[in-house]
Amino acid sequence: MTGTKLSRRRLMWAAAAVAAALTPRRPFAQPAARTAAAPGAALPARGEFVIRGATVLTMDPAVPDLTGGDVHIRDGAIVAVGQTIDAAAAQVIDGAGMICMPGFIDTHFHMWNALLRPFVRADVPALGYFPVTARLGPLMEPEDSYRSVRLAAADAIAAGITTVHNWSHNTRSPEHAAAELSAMRDMGMRGRFAYGTPVGLPDDEPMDFAGLARIKQDWMPDKDNLLALGICSRNLGALTIGGAAAASSRGVLTVEQIKRDWDGARALGLPITMHTSGASPITELERAGLLGPDVQLVHPLLTTPEERTILKARGVSYSTSPQLEARRAAQLGVIQLGELLEAGVKVSLSTDHIASIGCDPFSSMRVLFALHSHRIGARVPLTLKRLVQLATIDGAVDLGIAERTGSITPGKRADLVLVRTADTNMAPAGDPYEAIVSFAMPANVDTVIVDGRVLRRGGKFTAFDHAQIVAQAREAAFALRAKAKWPS
Ligand SMILES: [Zn+2]
Repeated sequence: MTGTKLSRRRLMWAAAAVAAALTPRRPFAQPAARTAAAPGAALPARGEFVIRGATVLTMDPAVPDLTGGDVHIRDGAIVAVGQTIDAAAAQVIDGAGMICMPGFIDTHFHMWNALLRPFVRADVPALGYFPVTARLGPLMEPEDSYRSVRLAAADAIAAGITTVHNWSHNTRSPEHAAAELSAMRDMGMRGRFAYGTPVGLPDDEPMDFAGLARIKQDWMPDKDNLLALGICSRNLGALTIGGAAAASSRGVLTVEQIKRDWDGARALGLPITMHTSGASPITELERAGLLGPDVQLVHPLLTTPEERTILKARGVSYSTSPQLEARRAAQLGVIQLGELLEAGVKVSLSTDHIASIGCDPFSSMRVLFALHSHRIGARVPLTLKRLVQLATIDGAVDLGIAERTGSITPGKRADLVLVRTADTNMAPAGDPYEAIVSFAMPANVDTVIVDGRVLRRGGKFTAFDHAQIVAQAREAAFALRAKAKWPS
């Protein structure tokens, strides 16, 4: 980047900041401000029910899997798991022919750009994910962010995801952050909101710590204990993917600039996530004393053995997004799942974004298993059960919420899905882990329960008008494109 360009960008940024300062503020963090696009229905109540006769995959070594087993849920908590549970007062959910498992935990998901789905082309570089998000992201208003996150949440819930780490690397203002959090809350998801920086922010500008502190004050602790807060950091060092468009949204910071942002987050007690899309930054981060168990990295493609030893020692976790990482050019690295597992590094699974791929944790497991088997499976055996662990309990460990979710354990919150095994792509089902990893897809997800609320039943939302969610996201997306006078 030239000095001239930088100063022009700075000027544009300053002008935008002035304009923002002159714009009357909407009531901050008020749910009512967001109800213009609200689903129009309250979340279902948490009741008492028992799932009967399901194949139960608990993902808890202390609670055996069951064939034809019951799960009893009351006031949002798992009360009991057993072969036959006596719960006369509970409403019955018939689990026959279904696999009951913990909901998926998606540890890296850019929900803010889901509504750009109509414009991104996987096979046309000029219309790739990075150019489209860099072009339209700066034009987004809080209402656009709200509609996008609601669209992404609907897709996630329908696919069986109950917890999401919302990686908001286009946090244009605290109002945008409040809009995204409102959408997560309105959709009833569990998750962490990672407060970021606006697309196009100059690298030498720090994060908006004052805005971050306000959001923390207004939203944390969440009264339902469903939502948590963190930050998403810009990148350390040069990127090898996405060119200038990626650099404008991800940043290309020095280690001093990274330290400034991370110190600010840590002063507020917030965890940190960062992409490693390029030459590995791990050694430099370690030299600066920045790594710790509050750090999650994303895209484990180019680590060295020494770096994996560091990650293990520091308790850093790594999120892999197999479907989109598999689309990268070979020289950008391979998914190092085998190496990370051998080194004892915490790993979890993620979608990344749904602007150019469907939200499908089953496919993520399937693709990861295929790539792993193809490259390193003979040396590092991987079971299908281990993949389901990565997609559930290991995600909870990554996000620091394993005491509350990630497995079907009495005392934990009830985040569960029921997957039909009688559908054409599944039947006749044999081993349940084989069925989940090799055959299942989102269309087989029958029932989704988050924190004891049944959000989806019989493959349909119980409280949301999906057609309205889609229509409002589409309307916002095309308005953004018109505002950008694009394509032109
Ligand atoms: Zn990402």
